[in-house]
Amino acid sequence: MTGKTTFQNLAVAGAAPAFSEPLHVGRPNIGNRARLMERIEAVIDSRWYSNNGPRVQEFEQEAARLLGVKHFIAMCNGTIALEIAIRALGFKGEVIVPSFTFIATPHSLQWQEITPVFCDIDPLTHNIDPVAAEKLITPRTTGIIGVHVWGRPCNITALEDLARRRNLGLLFDASHAFGCSSGGKMIGSFGQAEVFSFHATKFLNTFEGGAVATSDDDLAHRIRLMKNFGFAGYDNVIYPGTNGKMTEMSAVMGITGLESIGDFIAVNRRNYHQYAAELAGLPGIDINVFDESEKCNFQYLTLEVDESRAGICRDDIVSVLQAENILARRYFYPGCHNMEPYKSFFPNAHLILPETTKIAARILVLPTGTAVGEAGVSTICQIIRTAVANAPAVRNSLSAR
Ligand SMILES: *Cc1c(COP(=O)(O)O)cnc(C)c1O
Repeated sequence: MTGKTTFQNLAVAGAAPAFSEPLHVGRPNIGNRARLMERIEAVIDSRWYSNNGPRVQEFEQEAARLLGVKHFIAMCNGTIALEIAIRALGFKGEVIVPSFTFIATPHSLQWQEITPVFCDIDPLTHNIDPVAAEKLITPRTTGIIGVHVWGRPCNITALEDLARRRNLGLLFDASHAFGCSSGGKMIGSFGQAEVFSFHATKFLNTFEGGAVATSDDDLAHRIRLMKNFGFAGYDNVIYPGTNGKMTEMSAVMGITGLESIGDFIAVNRRNYHQYAAELAGLPGIDINVFDESEKCNFQYLTLEVDESRAGICRDDIVSVLQAENILARRYFYPGCHNMEPYKSFFPNAHLILPETTKIAARILVLPTGTAVGEAGVSTICQIIRTAVANAPAVRNSLSAR
């Protein structure tokens, strides 16, 4: 692919794909394999696989220390962690959430019959707009869930101020933001609690996993009960609960990953700067910007495509990349408000979500992380540059398919 500059070399023009194997977004980060295998063997030999085992406790302590929080409660996935945090916080009625998020954020409310009220985003950060959020408050509103999309922190100060003034709960979905900071403080320490996901695609993974971080002792106590059926000891259930427990296997993946987060960040950061340099100057193609004075995991490599300046739309670029086996994704298209059941519940939601609508039509997510090398990034950038330079030919070729 090196030296490729013409439309004729693109797969949409009939050439072979640039990558023989599909290159996915969100390939898992893996820490030191030898140490991981040793730990897995040790877990198998221990015959202690679940129920708050020693490795889960170790993972929780290491993560709590890293984040500077009192409590870090590991769970089986981020969605259950969200559901339990929402319940433990006593949210009911209506809760304000962005529509520009993964569907699990509103689903974790709807699942317990709380109405998600979709709020627009700030087009610069892609995060919930606190001014728009305030306008959505009704007598039924009990809380706000901010999502740190792409690991970029929400406007935490404004949301904390709003929650305080209007007496609302404040939870953060920090699924994207493990290892990131805001104002020098680690994400995990804001609001009443913050929820992480350790799904395989996330920056730190435990195969499947999640956690709630909080420094509120009472809240942490309720959450610990809820994730373990309400058990307060053998044969003693004192609370309604569910099964949110993390396994020992997941915990050793997490412990091993935690030892390598510096390496994961270094690779992501290197890729990010290479993408930024090689795509610089392309009109209408803007790479996301991170505040590099903060800690940042650089896990999401997103481009915003402004068709009026680029001469090519986001979806055509995605089609060109996919034809080359680069499986770029359109996160969070078309927005949660355009998915069921919300689409039927709120058919006019788009009227108050103009920025969400605009951003959802413009964003594409590119592969990064340890699975994409320097040559890979170069090839992807050349394909994008070629597609932009040959936009009319690309359009013709795609519509003929
Ligand atoms: C991944 C993700 C979740 C869900 O986490 P799971 O661990 O997959 O259940 C929730 N919210 C956001 C924003 C996510 O990206």
